[in-house]
Amino acid sequence: MKTAPILLLSLYAGLSPVLAVNVRDDFDAQNYPSGDVITRDVAVIGGGATGTYGAVKLRDAGKSVVLVEKEGLLGGHVNSYTDPSTGVSIDYGVQAFWNISVTRDYFALLNLTTGLYQPTPLTRFYADFQTGAPVEGVRSSFNFSAYAAQLEKYPQLLYSWDLPSPIPEDLLLPFGAFIQKYNLGDEAFDVYFSAQGVSNILDELTVHVFKFIDESFLSSVSGNAIVPTPNNAEIYAKASAYLGDDVLLSSTVVAAKRPANSSSSSSSGGGIRLIVQTPTGKKLIKASKLLISIPPLLSNTAPFDLSPTEQTLFSHWRSTDYYTMLLRNTGLPAGAQFANANASTATYNIPLLPAAYQITETRIPGLFYAWYGSPVRVTEDEVKEDVSSVIARLQNATTTAALEFVEFRSHTPFKLVVDAGAIGDGFYGELEAIQGQRDTWWTGAAFMSHDASVLYNFTQALLPGIIG
Ligand SMILES: Cc1cc2nc3c(=O)[nH]c(=O)nc-3n(C[C@H](O)[C@H](O)[C@H](O)COP(=O)(O)OP(=O)(O)OC[C@H]3O[C@@H](n4cnc5c(N)ncnc54)[C@H](O)[C@@H]3O)c2cc1C
Repeated sequence: MKTAPILLLSLYAGLSPVLAVNVRDDFDAQNYPSGDVITRDVAVIGGGATGTYGAVKLRDAGKSVVLVEKEGLLGGHVNSYTDPSTGVSIDYGVQAFWNISVTRDYFALLNLTTGLYQPTPLTRFYADFQTGAPVEGVRSSFNFSAYAAQLEKYPQLLYSWDLPSPIPEDLLLPFGAFIQKYNLGDEAFDVYFSAQGVSNILDELTVHVFKFIDESFLSSVSGNAIVPTPNNAEIYAKASAYLGDDVLLSSTVVAAKRPANSSSSSSSGGGIRLIVQTPTGKKLIKASKLLISIPPLLSNTAPFDLSPTEQTLFSHWRSTDYYTMLLRNTGLPAGAQFANANASTATYNIPLLPAAYQITETRIPGLFYAWYGSPVRVTEDEVKEDVSSVIARLQNATTTAALEFVEFRSHTPFKLVVDAGAIGDGFYGELEAIQGQRDTWWTGAAFMSHDASVLYNFTQALLPGIIG
């Protein structure tokens, strides 16, 4: 790919109208108008939780940055919605943030006003979404004490992948077997319901469940969580304002050149070269350091001039599909939360995915959100069709109005994990070893866990290396 000749049409005034170059030449700043060459200390890729945090904190530390985000706005898994008639705001993606110092410091830097997270009181109904039938006797109390007692055996998992050697076999058990071994049946449904976005939880490795339902989660659900005012999108509105023109939205890296070895310099325009497709054409980024925060699947990282080691590591990931949506005209009762359950007590009433986990009314009357997960690829149309069928089954034909999908968001690929064999072979140690190699650092959920505050902490720990 690096040497394949391509034909570029130059639309820039003053240049030849047709300029034949190959990609290698395209890394040459002389082939770009000066306004399209961006020279920075650090280039950050991905403007979700970790990339935005990294860019803001690097700027705060006096580094020049550029942040490249493929969507039209920053925010990643944050989905906020404001009711046009009442002005009431809700979040139907990321809900709340663990109230720890790294979160508070970041929000203070962005000058955010925050309050304690106070979920709306709801009446919960358990129903089999495949039939619409109510499910009785689901064990759910949101008391995670027996689960927490097991999790506490592995305190290092909160902020690292430092697994004991040899790896305790409990961590590599399918979580269903772990539940049986430690008699966690009373809490199994609650763990499933809290681990939305994880694959079929009874089959998933216990370590992957522990990395999702971790101390940050347990602390947050017991009340130690904060939210910005008026909604979570405010984090990214403030971050966008803070970073100004240094954010390239609707942009992706199409080719990259990274040095074979790390350099000691952190000044602008070192050995990183990125060709970025932006809405106003291709631009060249020259940077000393690179912080990559996007899901590191091979399909997503292919343009980054991967080394054989990086390619081998990233070929191990498997991921889930995860969707969030807002619905009107559901015909479902006010103040209701429908939780998908299964009649079988042998599997703790936990249903199989692909399926909707829940359909829940928001603080905006009549507006429901649904979260949908799948261990295999599902399309937007398939999800919408399934959710429409579930609602028709649940509503007992109380409404004739057509269901409206007010919003629909993809969080795919979600929850990147690797299998027990790779973990046993030292996958996460090797992943850690690529940090800082080739002037490149990696952050994001795949590298640690799916909690924004834990990820702020993880990203923060990378900064001294990046700053040099
Ligand atoms: C529905 C839902 C609810 C959640 N609730 C909570 C919660 O209440 N509290 C909490 O702490 N965590 C929550 N999480 C998890 C948390 O948000 C994630 O773990 C966190 O956002 C991960 O951060 P990240 O930077 O790895 O990824 P993301 O935030 O997803 O950021 C990655 C960014 O990279 C961009 N990108 C992807 N590919 C490219 C590319 N090729 N080029 C450029 N940009 C690219 C994406 O568009 C995205 O903006 C929730 C997640 C979901 C889906």
